[in-house]
Amino acid sequence: MVHFIAPKPLAQVLENQSVKYEKQTPSLINGERVIGTGSSWDVIYPATEEVLGSCSSASVEQVDHAVSSAKAAFDQGIWRTTTLAHRQGIFYKISELFQKYAHELAVLQALETGIPYKQFKGMHAVRASENFRFFSDVATSLSGKTFQQTGRYLSLTLQQPIGVGLVISPWNAPLILAGMKIAACLISGNSCIVKPSEYTPLSQLRMVEIIIEAGVPAQVIHLLNGTGAVTGAALTLHTDIDAINFVGGTETGKRIMKSAADGLKKISLELGGKSANIIIDDCDIDAAIDGSLLGIFAGNGEQCLAGSRILIQSSIYDEVVEKMVERTKNLRIGDPFEDVEIGPLAFKTHHNRVLDFTTKAVNDGDEILCGGGVPDAADSGYFFEPVMACAKSNSTRICQEEIFGPFAALVKFETLEEAIEMANDSDFGLVSYVWTQDIDNMMKFAQQVRAGTVWVNTAMSRDLRAPFGGYKLSGLGRDGLEESIHLFTEEKTVMIPAQKLAFPKLGLG
Ligand code: NDP
Repeated sequence: MVHFIAPKPLAQVLENQSVKYEKQTPSLINGERVIGTGSSWDVIYPATEEVLGSCSSASVEQVDHAVSSAKAAFDQGIWRTTTLAHRQGIFYKISELFQKYAHELAVLQALETGIPYKQFKGMHAVRASENFRFFSDVATSLSGKTFQQTGRYLSLTLQQPIGVGLVISPWNAPLILAGMKIAACLISGNSCIVKPSEYTPLSQLRMVEIIIEAGVPAQVIHLLNGTGAVTGAALTLHTDIDAINFVGGTETGKRIMKSAADGLKKISLELGGKSANIIIDDCDIDAAIDGSLLGIFAGNGEQCLAGSRILIQSSIYDEVVEKMVERTKNLRIGDPFEDVEIGPLAFKTHHNRVLDFTTKAVNDGDEILCGGGVPDAADSGYFFEPVMACAKSNSTRICQEEIFGPFAALVKFETLEEAIEMANDSDFGLVSYVWTQDIDNMMKFAQQVRAGTVWVNTAMSRDLRAPFGGYKLSGLGRDGLEESIHLFTEEKTVMIPAQKLAFPKLGLG
């Protein structure tokens, strides 16, 4: 029996939350609100399918205008030549303002995505604020290299801003994903262009307004709303974009890499995942179950790092599965502004796609243990009953394809070697979870699983200093302390003679 809390109508939500936004979402070019001249679409509140407002694509000309302004600001040095202390002061202010506006930002994100408000308010607001504090601190700790071994020269490196950075982000965590990249781009002295997902134009617009309010010049940061096909493509092909940070799906990532190739732009890609969550029989079972449910159901399961393939050792399989199914059936689903654990999925085509995996699972011979349909009590909205499915094998579609929803595929394994083989039998390699109390097992998984991050006895943790990114089709490049800064800077070598040099004298006859 699903616990379903029916969503309130949009008008009531807006009144209760006391949040206002413009019904026609603009882009922000030089701090001015500009309506895109390309085609428009409705932005939908996924809980009730009511229209939140409309948005239209920034055209190729508008893209060019924004990028030219960003480049002019860079060339003139209005931000690039400011002192680090000046930029840090503004970053601290941004961080404070994100806390001040945390409620408004969380409401906008919950309206756009359907992910529960309390997750945005409790976790994302804190992280969005931390991102800016973190990068202002990082900037003071970075150092270059010196080489003085040859005796004749002192060689040293300078890290210089690259120019205009482009940040393209997905819809599932608008503020924390884009915010981290924007922070890395700006603290290094660059100009920045932000392109949100067409499904989440509201919250990132507010974020960029706040960044400008804190003191970043409006010519330095611009936000261009628009579809990927029009606005996104025009940006990635633009000759004055120097570096691209992309977070999104693998197929889009490949397209962006091809666009970037022409201009030899620096690029970082954080892409999809199908992460293995391995539960070994020597683990703390209660902790493993808590962490595994969090790993698949946090953020409506719409997370790149979701532990969506749960591999369980045969000796504890029945016990773990029984407990997880019971807890899954008990999840509170519904109104993202109430005390729920799962809200509606983000948009209609995505909802249909996730529902379709129930059919695929049945056709592939997997067994759906719970969920998989629309809750009976939901008469509108993109609600979906969270799934636990026993996979026929690790090669069925629910184990190999990224579903990006609250849909867990369970697989039984006998030996640790088999679990490692299954974990690695995937096109993706973003993260991996392992639950064990044995240090040898921890080390074995940490070393042999091909994923950018291995979480041992924990879930969804992130240390901003540590590199984050994917193996295989999960991405290219890393985020992190030095890695994020490297994308948005050029490293220059300077050589200075350590003593007076005697050059061969040419042209003396
Ligand atoms: P998409 O790849 O569809 O879109 C991501 C962004 O790219 C959107 O802003 C989109 O705009 C834009 N875009 C689409 N086509 C182009 C193009 N040709 N040129 C330039 N930009 C384009 O991903 P989703 O938004 O659906 O996000 C879900 C995906 O993101 C999942 O695969 C998930 O795993 C991944 N992700 C990865 C993370 C990581 O850290 N590895 C973190 C979070 C999510 P528009 O929406 O307007 O089409």
